[in-house]
Amino acid sequence: MIPFNRPWSGARAVEFLNEVCGSTHLSGDGRFTKLCHEWLENILGVRKALLTTSGSGALDMAAILAGLEAGDEVIMPSFTFSSSANAIVLRGATPVFVDIRADTLNIDERLIEAAITPRTRAIMVVHYAGVACAMDSIMAIAARHGLTVIEDAAQAIMASYRGRPLGSIGQMAALSFHETKNIISGEGGAILINDPEIIERAEIIREKGTNRTAFARGEISKYTWVDLGSSYLPSEIISAFLWSQLEVAQELTQRRLLIWSRYHEHFEAMEQAGVLRRPTIPEDVVSNGHIYYLLLPDEAKRDGLIRALRAEGISAVFHYIPLHSAPAGLRFGRASGSMQQTDDLSRRLVRLPLWLGLDDGVDVVADAVKRALSPAA
Ligand SMILES: *Cc1c(COP(=O)(O)O)cnc(C)c1O
Repeated sequence: MIPFNRPWSGARAVEFLNEVCGSTHLSGDGRFTKLCHEWLENILGVRKALLTTSGSGALDMAAILAGLEAGDEVIMPSFTFSSSANAIVLRGATPVFVDIRADTLNIDERLIEAAITPRTRAIMVVHYAGVACAMDSIMAIAARHGLTVIEDAAQAIMASYRGRPLGSIGQMAALSFHETKNIISGEGGAILINDPEIIERAEIIREKGTNRTAFARGEISKYTWVDLGSSYLPSEIISAFLWSQLEVAQELTQRRLLIWSRYHEHFEAMEQAGVLRRPTIPEDVVSNGHIYYLLLPDEAKRDGLIRALRAEGISAVFHYIPLHSAPAGLRFGRASGSMQQTDDLSRRLVRLPLWLGLDDGVDVVADAVKRALSPAA
């Protein structure tokens, strides 16, 4: 049996968790949380990093920080996870879905301007599979129209665009450390903030609307309720586990990229023969190997491949039902223009198992794919 995902955890996780269990600081913002914050700020080059209990929580915080209000609109792709849209809808604002590019499956930057109305406040980009959106064009559009850019970088830690780490380009970004992502803590996330003007408010929103973070730094003599907020900070138990992964994040990413490349080589000939399409990584982008997917010629062939792999004990899976056609998407959002690429690509995509330690299993999966798609099959 080859599962689709198998979370990796190292010996240092146990060591750090032992340290937390023997300490008197179990709640948030202790030693391990601070180590994680410093690492994210230094390695990703962001002004401020704040751990959250999930990527969804980081997106919710970003939507508050963007000042979204009822009636506002946010432009985003439909080919993404529900959390990207929920953050907008929870503010009473409307997600406006734009089609994706056929090559990267990311929001098509050429369609963004046509979706802008007097109510548009922000653009939420999603770096699908850890492959960057066309950030220079998107940042230029946002600047021309006075819009905030939020990067949903849930899948994109350690990936970059024109030499800049993803998450360091928009005003804000969200990372996820869910066990299905590259760097994990079971559940977990972080908000990354590049606009210095909103850092203080972010600390307040994350601490139940209080200025307790400034109090903990000794900047004020007592703390109180000053703004809206909730409890977005993770405990030291989560942060200790996360630190054991961040310490070796570069190495884990390299190992993942090796697995990704091994798949990519396997399918080169089949792509040339027109049997399938492999992922496209633009030249100015460095990916983090988050997902290895294949695009089949049509939905029936895709579903047939998933069934054939399952019969061999291999778990391969499709991805998002586009949000614009999901029940909540129909209720809370609207599409701007044609969603043709989104509808078409989402029906033809299959993700192959990819996890640290899969190694020779790549050859097993690739051979099974080749058998299933061979003309004789
Ligand atoms: C995983 C993911 C999220 C949500 O992250 P959680 O940590 O599970 O809340 C949001 N957006 C995208 C694109 C994701 O892949």
